[in-house]
Amino acid sequence: MIEHLLNFSVATISIGIPIWYIVCNVKKSSSAKAKLNHSVSSGLTEPVSLHPKIDINSCISTGACVPACPEGEILGVLEGRATMVSPTKCIGHGACEAACPVEAISLVFGTEKRGVELPHVKANFETNVPGVYIAGELGGMGLIRNAIKQGWEAVDDIHQSLTKKSDQVYDLAIIGAGPAGISASLQAQKNKLKFITLEQDDIGGTVLSYPRQKIVMTQPMDIPLYGKVKFREIQKENLLGLWNEVITKTGLELNIKEKVETVERRNGFFKITSSKGEYLAQRVLLSIGRRGTPRKLGVPGEKSSKVAYRLLEPEQYKRKKVLIVGGGDSAIEAALSLSEQKGTDVTLSYRKNVFSRIKEKNDQRIEEAIRQDRINVQFESNVLEIKREQAILEKKGTQFTINNDYVFIFAGGILPTQFLQSIGISIEKKFGER
Ligand SMILES: Cc1cc2nc3c(=O)[nH]c(=O)nc-3n(C[C@H](O)[C@H](O)[C@H](O)COP(=O)(O)OP(=O)(O)OC[C@H]3O[C@@H](n4cnc5c(N)ncnc54)[C@H](O)[C@@H]3O)c2cc1C
Repeated sequence: MIEHLLNFSVATISIGIPIWYIVCNVKKSSSAKAKLNHSVSSGLTEPVSLHPKIDINSCISTGACVPACPEGEILGVLEGRATMVSPTKCIGHGACEAACPVEAISLVFGTEKRGVELPHVKANFETNVPGVYIAGELGGMGLIRNAIKQGWEAVDDIHQSLTKKSDQVYDLAIIGAGPAGISASLQAQKNKLKFITLEQDDIGGTVLSYPRQKIVMTQPMDIPLYGKVKFREIQKENLLGLWNEVITKTGLELNIKEKVETVERRNGFFKITSSKGEYLAQRVLLSIGRRGTPRKLGVPGEKSSKVAYRLLEPEQYKRKKVLIVGGGDSAIEAALSLSEQKGTDVTLSYRKNVFSRIKEKNDQRIEEAIRQDRINVQFESNVLEIKREQAILEKKGTQFTINNDYVFIFAGGILPTQFLQSIGISIEKKFGER
């Protein structure tokens, strides 16, 4: 009897485990396929920055790369090979490369189809324009820890290169106050440089635009004048809180809401022209990231304080009349979160007649919100003017006015390439290479 039971158990295990394994793999593979189909149908097929390139001849489909990614299912195993199924979500952690047991993954910029433009930067962070340096993601290397490290390292190199000081001009102008710019500014303060930091938006950089409560994956890092921070995971809001604590503790001064428009050579110095003034500096450090500057509509009234290009706290807009402009995922997600606030009146203006290129889930949610009359969508409309208590729109040649307290514009971003070229920095295009 016992022998029968044992035989039965052995048979169950030896048949059951392979079946369970096959079912799991089929499930995983169909989820990966669905993700890939969605990426392809939404046109989201090209990774933004550093990403894995899979050598299909070496890949033995262990699948170890898939769960290694801290950002979720960006890779999947399809037809026995690792494949990028959500390419645009890759931010270049590189954990997949480390997890692959047969070294079939390497990290590269751009793809064979679409090149990625990267500025030429030397090992000491200087560009081909003597005196102009680059740190952080703009140089191609993403991630917060890398940006912080490059920020202070670049400033140390700049410090060494400064032979004479002048009371009339800044030693250094730092442009951008994301992780690289903040770290650079702290190191400049530590090295007692006469410096200025100019940030077009607010302190924090790209982190500011992460989804709410996003868990930021990082590694222990050294922050100049503050010390070592040891966490590996931190919520977005707590990371921004840490920056504020560092700034308060060190007394660091940063000029926010001041966009740099041009950097030109002037009598052996650099003249930096911003939205608020002009500055002369001996050296310039560009830590402006790769995400670009929000695209403006260019309509009268856009400079008013009721206009913003990012929505951080939807709760602040309870019982307000809000206009959202745009038809991408950011616009839809902002409209949806505002429509969930008590008494908020949400209008969405989009110049096209249908939402294309948005996530499937957002598509379903916005359809539902329109059906329930929670969001008033004005397709094929354009904003003509933003006034104190109204916004004037145009649709098929007819103008109309809506009462309005706030306007959020999500019209994409202008990449920094043109700005770099205007300074004379050479750009290289990388097609799936390092
Ligand atoms: C959704 C998402 C999730 C991510 N998650 C993680 C994660 O979990 N862990 C991780 O390590 N990394 C993550 N990253 C990547 C990380 O955010 C970036 O690598 C990092 O912020 C780069 O820092 P930076 O200082 O080089 O550039 P940025 O953070 O992009 O900062 C650049 C700053 O320059 C300013 N600027 C630009 N142009 C001008 C101008 N003309 N004048 C003045 N200021 C200007 C911008 O406003 C911005 O504040 C994520 C990125 C995204 C998009």
